[in-house]
Amino acid sequence: MNTRRTFLVSSAAAAVQPPARKPNVLVILADDLGSADLGYSGCRDIPTPNLDRLRGQGVRFANSYVSHPFCSPTRAGLLTGRYQQRFGHENNPQYGVGEGLPLSETLLPALLKPAGYTSALIGKWHLGDASHFHPNARGFDEFYGFLGGGHQYFPLEPPRIDAAKEYFVPLTRNREPVPQLEYMTQDLSREAAKFIARRRRDPFFLYLAYNAPHTPMQAPPEYLARFASISNERRRHYAAMVSALDDGVGAVLKSLQENGLDNDTLVFFLSDNGGPAQANSSSNLPLRNGKGSLYEGGIRTPMTARWTGRIKPGATFDAPVSSLDIAATTLALAGAPPAKDRPLDGVDLLPFLTGARSGSPHERLFWRTGGGTHHALREANWKLVLHQDSEPELYDLAQDPAEKNDIALSNLPRVRELRARLQEWNSQLAKPAWQGLSAIRKP
Ligand code: CA
Repeated sequence: MNTRRTFLVSSAAAAVQPPARKPNVLVILADDLGSADLGYSGCRDIPTPNLDRLRGQGVRFANSYVSHPFCSPTRAGLLTGRYQQRFGHENNPQYGVGEGLPLSETLLPALLKPAGYTSALIGKWHLGDASHFHPNARGFDEFYGFLGGGHQYFPLEPPRIDAAKEYFVPLTRNREPVPQLEYMTQDLSREAAKFIARRRRDPFFLYLAYNAPHTPMQAPPEYLARFASISNERRRHYAAMVSALDDGVGAVLKSLQENGLDNDTLVFFLSDNGGPAQANSSSNLPLRNGKGSLYEGGIRTPMTARWTGRIKPGATFDAPVSSLDIAATTLALAGAPPAKDRPLDGVDLLPFLTGARSGSPHERLFWRTGGGTHHALREANWKLVLHQDSEPELYDLAQDPAEKNDIALSNLPRVRELRARLQEWNSQLAKPAWQGLSAIRKP
């Protein structure tokens, strides 16, 4: 008997009583959050009671990855369910120059629409700021937030109207500028809670993409006061930003509960990449490196999922999963097919979580940055890392999760085999559609 069968909560009831309505899906994405900076991931100096409770009510993915070690490409993968390098989305788009997620791809909210879903993005887009790349043009019925890669956290007085200043543009509701009312994290949380209340009667997909705790390091005094004992000023600001994020998640989950939607909503929480320790004082320890790197600290995220009554509370799922799986899972729940000629790389996770399927959702996972200057592959517990003009590195993550001991030389046949798999995947990819500003260096 496979132990994953223990995830099943009420198979008999589920078999005879199909859900009265299609489930909602809420994806909560943090930005540049360190994998070690939550209570449930071992953090000691930043309490995160709401995210800890969410984890306790659902499943923790012990080996969960994002499809890229930085912002925009991960989001492109998340909303397509496809390796973003297949369509050239391998770098962050520059603001104001017409770069964005290629229109050849149909995004999750557009695919959900025929299945009766209303979709909203609240927060950070970062998939192109030109009119034809706007969230409303890609399937989101509602949008509240900003189009670039980051934003100032406090309302701008007087409001700035310089549209070329990515971090200073006014927030918009759909395409109309609106005043920001509160600290950004609170602003986005309030909007998400209101969306849930407004749309409670029909199935929705809510993509809540916080910019916290991405730079700039800005936090309200009342949150900074919670962390007076942290002497490092940057870490204190970071802690305050994470604490506000945790409170925001608490407010959004409270809205779900108050509107009677806990049993009708699958909730995912994750970060878009590992923490950049120097930029925001985040921590990914004991994982190696962080944002921008294909070592575990750059791509591993403390992802959780909750679906009350369907996923066993407190469960841990050990097999590797990907942020690409969120779109596949959502489409399957909604009964919505993927786009023709655009096969998904993600896998529907729910059967694995309920025990309907056993084994590992993925035989292997792949990464590529810099148009091929860096590659990585994970297969079972093996991790191959390949930097251009360097010998391949091999790690056994079961024994060495911090990737300290390169064992390639004593496993050359395996290295050759994994490298061939990587090359096969690489041959399917497009060249980057644009060059990014993010210089990814060999760590
Ligand atoms: Ca990010």
